[in-house]
Amino acid sequence: MRCRSRSQVWALALLALAGCVTPRGTAETAGAESILAIRNVRIFDGERIIPEGTVVVREGKIVAVGADVSPPEGAEILDGRGQTLLPGLLDSHFHADGPDSYRAALALGITTALDMFPQLSASVARMSVEQLSQRGPDEADSFIGMLITSPGGHGSEYPGITPLTASTPQECEKAVEAAIAAGSRYIKLVYDAGETVLPAPMPTLSREVLAACIQAAHAKGRQVVVHALPWQRAREAVDAGADGLAHCITDTLPDAAQVRRLAERKTFLIPTLAVALSVAHQGHAELLKADPLLAPYLTPSSLQLMAMPFPPEFGAGLRPEVMRQSTRMLLEAGVPVLAGSDSGNPGVAVGATLHYELQMLVAAGLTPVQALAAATSVPARIFQLADRGRIAPGLRADLLLVRGDPTVDVRQTRDILAVWKEGRRLDRGAWRAHLEAARSP
Ligand SMILES: [Zn+2]
Repeated sequence: MRCRSRSQVWALALLALAGCVTPRGTAETAGAESILAIRNVRIFDGERIIPEGTVVVREGKIVAVGADVSPPEGAEILDGRGQTLLPGLLDSHFHADGPDSYRAALALGITTALDMFPQLSASVARMSVEQLSQRGPDEADSFIGMLITSPGGHGSEYPGITPLTASTPQECEKAVEAAIAAGSRYIKLVYDAGETVLPAPMPTLSREVLAACIQAAHAKGRQVVVHALPWQRAREAVDAGADGLAHCITDTLPDAAQVRRLAERKTFLIPTLAVALSVAHQGHAELLKADPLLAPYLTPSSLQLMAMPFPPEFGAGLRPEVMRQSTRMLLEAGVPVLAGSDSGNPGVAVGATLHYELQMLVAAGLTPVQALAAATSVPARIFQLADRGRIAPGLRADLLLVRGDPTVDVRQTRDILAVWKEGRRLDRGAWRAHLEAARSP
């Protein structure tokens, strides 16, 4: 979802932030032989809850999980009484808003970012494929999905950024190949003229080109996620073979037969309710800034975007009750729901908005456990990331330890005590101090 008339303003703001300097090596390096055991802790393993148990980590991997696991001899012991251990979170609709976004995401427990248009900000657009996809130990891992749109379509409104385009079915193969050459693990298509968001329409892919691009991506073994907000367009995208929808349905409730059809086709949904509500002038930026658990982790680039709400003439076609109700209907029919922040947008913050999105998913009717699965095991399964998303032996030790019980009150994901990426505990204090210094005049 993108803002057009103000896009120049905030894109320039991002350019100004391009020189942002961040500290290196803020991850505490544990010895290769070290063993960590977190015991007496509530475990949400990505799917279910173990009320009290132990998790053992060795050489960056989870080696044991369970209620009857004993810490091995020589292990560093952490007592997790009153706390909950979760898999590191996955943000399934991420855009970096500056070069420090991956570090900011990890500090808030997001160990994997699924980027849905990596060149959104001009400063990030200058990064190489290697820089984009190979992240350091103190940054969230990222996977990228390049955007293909129509000439002049959504995604092309940002100064200095040229997304891949296709205007005829014949051009799809070339665009898909270029996306893959740029490191695209999946493909994002825009099939939306801005009907529910923009005051005036933008060009978009024709139905024919949409179908050809989906086919071209599938021929190369790539999943396709489609940005299509009006229900009519989302439906056509699903009929054309889209694997997933990048946003919720925004204007009209699907009927029961249509909902079944989405479930049968195994379409997945990334509702991004927080950003959709922001476009509908129900933003959350002030809430994040007032939250003592999140505010210290807001980066200068996110703060700039948070200070720029969507223009008042935007979002006239959005119906918040339809967004929530359609999300609930699809979930109940068996459609996988994935948590995504759509960071990089006005009014949205890298990292912090994902925590707010979990709250919005619960407000839409997901249970806290379903919302947590939407940010852990479900996206790992959908995007075929078999090494993460759950707490199970053999998987990467990407872990998030929080105070309290987010399986009852999902807002507890914000009360972070520790974040580990591949078994290394992040020094959140150093990052917080860096941001504090960056904010002081
Ligand atoms: Zn997006």
